[in-house]
Amino acid sequence: MITHSPSSAVTSSSSLRVPLLDLRREYEASRGAIDEAVRTCFIHQQWINGPEVRVLEDAVARFLGGGYAVGVSSGTDALVLALRALALQRTGQEYFTRNDVIVTTAFTFTATGDAILRAGATPMFVDIDPETFVLDASHLRAALASEVGTRVVGIIPVHLYGHACDMDAIADIAVAHKIFVLEDCAQAFGARWRHRRIGTLGDAAALSFFPSKNLGGCGDGGMVVTNDAALASLVRMLRQHGGKDKYNVEHVGYNARLDTLQAAILRVKLPNVDAYNSRRRAIAAQYDDGLRGIPSIVTPAVHPAAFHVFHQYTIRVGRGARDGVVEYLTRDGIGTAVYYRTPLHRMALFSGDRSIRMDDLPHTTTAADTVVNLPIAPLQTEEETAAVIASLRAYAQ
Ligand SMILES: *Cc1c(COP(=O)(O)O)cnc(C)c1O
Repeated sequence: MITHSPSSAVTSSSSLRVPLLDLRREYEASRGAIDEAVRTCFIHQQWINGPEVRVLEDAVARFLGGGYAVGVSSGTDALVLALRALALQRTGQEYFTRNDVIVTTAFTFTATGDAILRAGATPMFVDIDPETFVLDASHLRAALASEVGTRVVGIIPVHLYGHACDMDAIADIAVAHKIFVLEDCAQAFGARWRHRRIGTLGDAAALSFFPSKNLGGCGDGGMVVTNDAALASLVRMLRQHGGKDKYNVEHVGYNARLDTLQAAILRVKLPNVDAYNSRRRAIAAQYDDGLRGIPSIVTPAVHPAAFHVFHQYTIRVGRGARDGVVEYLTRDGIGTAVYYRTPLHRMALFSGDRSIRMDDLPHTTTAADTVVNLPIAPLQTEEETAAVIASLRAYAQ
């Protein structure tokens, strides 16, 4: 059951505190079913690979429209295990080599690039589209035409903030160059590109069930989804020590299973995702309306082919203005975040010859310097959203 926020007259009430995210509300809305699902686990006591894991895997695969789903311990591990499985399938080796290049964006969470290093390959960062913040396919084409182009083995498009990448262009390029596509869906569960759900548009996809994500658990969790049965089977082996039999293995594996308890909770929350994503979209529309016409604030753009699920609602402010905006909102009791202040290519981990980039990534660095993430959660009320808008309007005056 979903409790919708009460709609009432929109009044600006600057005394209202608006948290960036209040996970307790989602728990309260589904409390009975979650408590029951947890109690069931305590009764059967099958904590490792319990029946709830397979039930969730099948339910997520159905939700996405088919294929195979393998529950793993986090979104980060989903990326690592998917890459390792792709290496095994495509090269016959346990790991990629430093000579193998995997293209992605630097305006993402650390794990996207870190997973490439952990799989043995070299990340290559290309720039984003300045309006939608996701990978610009023209830069992918340029990367493939560059002097390292022949070393590129794959691409990880990151559907950042809930906005899908241009999966038509990316799929065309991938087919033409025989490179793999691993979608990073950590922020975009339920999002679509031309009416098709992301997560099914490449060779494999990584999902994250980190508590704050659009489908979030009560702890870490993740999933690899793919239409390739052999690839799914490799991921299944890698998540459990590297073999079908963990007492007699053939690959360098991990202990990276999805918790039974998390699967039980996620199974209860999964049916709410589409309705919750609709709520996020309604809140985003309220922000769009309320912030329209403020010259110092740019609201997020949405590509016409993208069904945006607003994991984040991200505005851009003038260079040098961000600290002031954040401070002003904080004083008004409004939570904010900045995802991401440091793009990957500026982290020590990716310095030197650990990564490659085409140019200075101007749109990436501009985004890192100017974005502010506003509160957005499915059960945020209209009054709360109005309070954020009122505070920003007051600031801009
Ligand atoms: C959250 C996130 C991940 C990692 O997921 P975890 O479950 O936290 O390990 C990877 N990529 C992106 C873009 C993310 O936002």
